[in-house]
Amino acid sequence: MATAVAGPEIERLILLLSKLPGLGPRSARRAALHLIKKRDLLMGPLASALQVAMEKIVVCKTCGNIDTQDPCTVCVDPRRDQSIIVVVADVADLWALERANVVNGRYHVLGGTLSPLDGVGPQDLSIDALISRAHGTEVKELILALNATVDGQTTAHYITELLQDANVKVTRLAHGVPVGGELDYLDEGTLSAAIKQRTLF
Ligand code: ZN
Repeated sequence: MATAVAGPEIERLILLLSKLPGLGPRSARRAALHLIKKRDLLMGPLASALQVAMEKIVVCKTCGNIDTQDPCTVCVDPRRDQSIIVVVADVADLWALERANVVNGRYHVLGGTLSPLDGVGPQDLSIDALISRAHGTEVKELILALNATVDGQTTAHYITELLQDANVKVTRLAHGVPVGGELDYLDEGTLSAAIKQRTLF
C-alpha cells in the first residue's frame, strides 16, 4: 500500500480517476496533478460537465444508445437511412462505428452478447425489441456488427434464426485481414475466414 502524499480529498480524486479504463494508479496520480495544476482551465469545466452529464444522461428507448435526449440524436436524425439497422453489443461499438463514419443507418444496442458460461441469456439482452423493430415496414437490412468472438457469433446466429420469416436482409461484418495487417502474423482462424470470404478484385 503506497503512503498518502496528499490530503484525503486529493487521495479520493486519485482513487476515483484510477478506476477509469486505461488509467492505473500511477497515471491517475499524473492526471490528478494535471487537473489540479489546470484548476481554472480544466478542473472546473470538467466538474461542471460531469454534473450536467450526470443530470441529463438517458438511455434511448428505441435503440439503447446513451444520450441527453430520448429518442437519441442518431434516432431522430432525418438524414439517416431508415432502412438499415446496425446491431451492436455495446454503446462503445456504436460510438466506434460513428467515429469511423462508415455507415449511415440507425442502430440497435443489445446490451451484451449471449454467453451461457456467464449466464447471459436472450432475456438479458434487447433482442425482443430488435425483432419487433426488424419487422417494421421501412427496415430492409440488419447489419450484425458483433465481435468476432464465440459469444458474438453465437448471438449473430441466434438473431438470424429468429428473423428467418421476416422480410429483411441480415448481413454481418466481414472477417479477415485487418487493414495494414501482415499475413505472416495472422492466426489460422483469421486466415481461414479471409480465404473463405475472399472478394472479386
Ligand atoms: Zn436511439
